[in-house]
Amino acid sequence: MAFSPKIRRYLVVFLIIGWSLALFNSALRFNSLRYPLKAKQLYRDNRLLMGTFWEVTSPNKQAGAIVFSEASRIEQLLSKYIATSEISRLNRLGKLKVSADTFYIIKKSQEFCRLTQGAFDISVAPLVDLWGFTNQKFRVPSDDKIRAVLKLMGSDKIILHEKDSVVEFRIPGTRIDLGAIAKGFALDCAVKKLKESKIDNCLINAGGQVYALGDKFGQTWKIAIRGARKSEIAGTLELKNKSASTSGDYQQYFLIGNKRYCHILNPKTGYPAESGISSVTVIADSGLEADALSTSVFVLGKEKAKELAAKFNNLEIKITE
Ligand code: ADP
Ligand code: MG
Repeated sequence: MAFSPKIRRYLVVFLIIGWSLALFNSALRFNSLRYPLKAKQLYRDNRLLMGTFWEVTSPNKQAGAIVFSEASRIEQLLSKYIATSEISRLNRLGKLKVSADTFYIIKKSQEFCRLTQGAFDISVAPLVDLWGFTNQKFRVPSDDKIRAVLKLMGSDKIILHEKDSVVEFRIPGTRIDLGAIAKGFALDCAVKKLKESKIDNCLINAGGQVYALGDKFGQTWKIAIRGARKSEIAGTLELKNKSASTSGDYQQYFLIGNKRYCHILNPKTGYPAESGISSVTVIADSGLEADALSTSVFVLGKEKAKELAAKFNNLEIKITE
């Protein structure tokens, strides 16, 4: 059959429109088969845990309860603010047989201490107290007091007896603080529990530290990152099966004049870290890595962060100076 060129052009256009509509329609049907419209509901749940606000978003109603129960279990083990926690007892006694979870996180912390050449150091506890960050009675300590406390610190002061899960401090006065890593670990434990319950899609936001499990009805979870100085949004991230943690000098700090003293301390100097970074976000495969490394990069600064990143797979670091 012969058509004039004009009619042929029209036919081609109609065919293309027809094919596009057919494709669009089948894509819609495919998606609604996977995610039926009435099931496209998200449940949101929140709770105060580990000194921060946890928010869980998931298409599964049970996700919140699972996450909160696991985070609360970890808090009871690791919080220095709970007198009966394993960490509080270890800090009082100087030697304690601990659970597998507590042993694991202390061992991982020792690894991060080595990898960061001491920038990440859980034996920072007496220094955190000295600066008043534990009881919010902030002060600038004397150099003598800082020097005395630095002698109690360092990964060599912590002995791990692998055989019987005993943690021991080499000298009296050493104490540990898992504030820079416990939340990330709790996220990983919660994600493990979700997967055991066959929940594959969930976004957990633990006071700005996030784990994005799976996706939201086929779309990646989108996360907003807070600005360092004002509470405006600095950017957004799209995450799938990854954690993002932000450490900054705006989360906990005190001012004397214009000088800002923040809660992340440099174990080398005994003073709040001053690496020229005001905020850093680390994106990693696990919450534990993201948490520990965002604190580490905040202490180490931009240049050393590059060397550190090279030691890990799949690490992304975003720095605001
Ligand atoms: P946030 O608690 O706001 O999530 P971080 O994860 O960076 O922030 O952890 C900061 C906490 O870690 C401090 O409040 C303190 O308890 C502890 N800490 C401070 N300096 C260090 C350090 N150099 N290494 C390990 N832990 C630290
Ligand atoms: Mg941290």
